[in-house]
Amino acid sequence: MPSKRCYYEVLSVTREATSDELRKAYRREALKHHPDRNPGDSAAEGKFKEVNEAYQVLTDDQKRRIYDQFGHAGLDGSMGAAGGEGIGDVFSHMQDLFAEMFSGGMGFGTNARPRRGSDMRVQARLTLREAAFGCKREVQVRVPATCTDCSGSGAKPGSKPESCPQCRGSGQVSNARGFVMFTSTCPRCRGAGRVIKQPCPSCSGHGAVERARKVNVTFPAGIDAGQRLRVPGQGMPGPANSPAGDLYVEIDVEDDPRFERDGADLVTRVHIPLTDAALGAEIRVASLEAEDEEATLPLVISPGTQSSAMFTVKGHGIPRLDGRGRGSLVVIVQVDVPSVLTTRARELLEQLRAELQRSDSNEPEGKRAAGGK
Ligand SMILES: [Zn+2]
Ligand SMILES: [Zn+2]
Repeated sequence: MPSKRCYYEVLSVTREATSDELRKAYRREALKHHPDRNPGDSAAEGKFKEVNEAYQVLTDDQKRRIYDQFGHAGLDGSMGAAGGEGIGDVFSHMQDLFAEMFSGGMGFGTNARPRRGSDMRVQARLTLREAAFGCKREVQVRVPATCTDCSGSGAKPGSKPESCPQCRGSGQVSNARGFVMFTSTCPRCRGAGRVIKQPCPSCSGHGAVERARKVNVTFPAGIDAGQRLRVPGQGMPGPANSPAGDLYVEIDVEDDPRFERDGADLVTRVHIPLTDAALGAEIRVASLEAEDEEATLPLVISPGTQSSAMFTVKGHGIPRLDGRGRGSLVVIVQVDVPSVLTTRARELLEQLRAELQRSDSNEPEGKRAAGGK
């Protein structure tokens, strides 16, 4: 197997390249090596795949981190054979970026034309509360829209696309090989039959520009990081009258300083003084319902509670996605020992020590209070 080229090298970008720079570099390189522009050139096709693979990895934060740290070896298995996982993605990126440009036929053969628009992916970051109780949110997706300056023709306003001189507008060229005539897509106009001499400055001749579109998404209660929602029909517009693709919203959930999520359970930690642990107390703990960081939920600490003891408050965790109730709030207690003592407090503790030593030797085993539930 030939050794793989560095992804940053493939896209001719620095290791610090931003997503914007990656996008531009991808556009430039993919265009240069696109098979439609290099018919029959297998080296170009190889480079095109390489460019797509590099773009896929470097625009995926997680994969990029792995690649930065471990190189190609880190991604073996996840990327598999070059382009293996990715051929669908290749098309979605291509569509994403060039949409109308290659509207004469995406990809490597006339039958590869999709029946509907491609699916798109977008990330949404929710707070823990939003994920727990559900919310409605607008998410922004960038989709190609017809360029208004040239009405989609790609030609500079005032000029027009001209009939392609190589194929005389037919989009096909014929070559004789011996006695056989071969017809192939015209390399000059890529089958469009027209060429643009003066490209529209707004869309660089693509006929389409990227526009932000807002999509209303309802996030169901109980959704978690790493899951994704499908919003039908909100992906890329389909070619000529065919339906649009779907939009996949990938969920990311912000850390909450008060809680850790464990499936449908929430784990929180509270500090209680030594005396409350020994004597028992009613305290208040943070609950996810509270808008602010107020501790609103009452919790009874039983006498003799040990440090790290766990209390479970049923029904105050995260609603389950399938609607089958809510998980629990698990409270882990940390017992604080005073580090600074007043004279009086020291006296009392000395008395307590004496008392405990006495009772320890008198009282039978097993009468000591147990912590926990
Ligand atoms: Zn234009
Ligand atoms: Zn032509």
